[in-house]
Amino acid sequence: MNKHSKIEKMGGCSDIPILKERGQREVFCGLTGIIWLHRKIQDAFFLVVGSRTCAHLLQSAAGVMIFAEPRFGTAILEEKDLAGMADAHEELDREVANLLERRPDIKQLFLVGSCPSEVIKLDLANAAERLSRVYFPKVRVLNFSGSGIETTFTQGEDACLASLVPSLEESDEENLVLVGSLPDIVEDQLIDLINELGVKRVSVLPGRDATKMPMIGSKSKFILVQPFLTDTTEALEKRGALRIEAPFPFGEEGTTLWLNAVRESFGISNDKFELVTAAPRKRAQVGLEKLRGSLQGKTIFFFPDSQLEIPLARFLSRECGMKLIEVGSPYINRSLVDKDLELLDEIPVISEGQDVDLQLDRCKESTPDITVCGLGLANPLEAEGLTTKWAIELVFTPIHGYEQAQDLAELFVRPLKRKEALLI
Ligand code: SF4
Repeated sequence: MNKHSKIEKMGGCSDIPILKERGQREVFCGLTGIIWLHRKIQDAFFLVVGSRTCAHLLQSAAGVMIFAEPRFGTAILEEKDLAGMADAHEELDREVANLLERRPDIKQLFLVGSCPSEVIKLDLANAAERLSRVYFPKVRVLNFSGSGIETTFTQGEDACLASLVPSLEESDEENLVLVGSLPDIVEDQLIDLINELGVKRVSVLPGRDATKMPMIGSKSKFILVQPFLTDTTEALEKRGALRIEAPFPFGEEGTTLWLNAVRESFGISNDKFELVTAAPRKRAQVGLEKLRGSLQGKTIFFFPDSQLEIPLARFLSRECGMKLIEVGSPYINRSLVDKDLELLDEIPVISEGQDVDLQLDRCKESTPDITVCGLGLANPLEAEGLTTKWAIELVFTPIHGYEQAQDLAELFVRPLKRKEALLI
């Protein structure tokens, strides 16, 4: 065992050992979340206070998806700005003033922190408060960090949503909040099912614009749709809201258990549940049945990337018959993923964090049929004859809920088919 690795047994009902690694890692920083968040929150603008590297990341990662004037940008602080913090704050104020004058459609402005130490020293929380006062009530200014030192990939969304929570209006009525950003069509499907169950006051964090943000209070309940929302969960609990615990809504079983947790929490009858879910469940089962033969018995290895790994592994092993070798995740919050972990019939290596060289050795030794990994690892692994699946696709493709169950399985069938075709 290397000095960067140790196995810890976590307490709790599912006493599963977790291999903890703290070495070199190959994961995007939290700025990546802006790519989907700027599409989701229609009146928001993300101003990254960062370096040219940050600007390049956003342009290259998101550039292809932009068809209108983008709703994110980078305030690049030059050396001269950083020489004195007063100058840096003035520069930031100027950037914000220009932006808001040019773009009156912006109602929510996020100042997003990044890596350079000078940016870290710049107190963006203070800047956001000061600017909020200046532009109140037209624009709400918030801040969060997408820095690669503090965040990986999907943690950027967590930081963004957590920053929104204190600004949500207080409610003293019972309501349900779905937490995590989803493609609109998937969000609508889940809300429709919950409405049909009889829960009518349902909203989503993040709302599609400033007027559609949820209200929150001690009678609010919330359920996560994404497993990477640790800080957001804490922030909502601090506001008095109660989390409904459930496995995540991937596949037929995951979606059913997720909806069933809502059913239980709101005291809805089983008969009603059957009535509402029978048809979409059947569709999902039929869709999955078509693909199970291609995945049954195939082995899979997950490198840590999006924090979706544990719920996806549960779906692939239980609903598609795949064999899990290792399930790596950048960070594991047991209280959020325990419901998924408890469902695993066979416990694979569960690893948290990364020491990329050690993990590559384990992966190559186990020769999995599919390896889920980041873009940087995919090419070298393919060159060694392994079949890979880009983890980032799982974040950008609609995969939640009954109607997407087949598409989700299909994402794993495709690389296997490609491999077979190459071998013929
Ligand atoms: S890792 Fe840091 S410097 Fe690099 S793009 Fe992300 S925030 Fe910017």
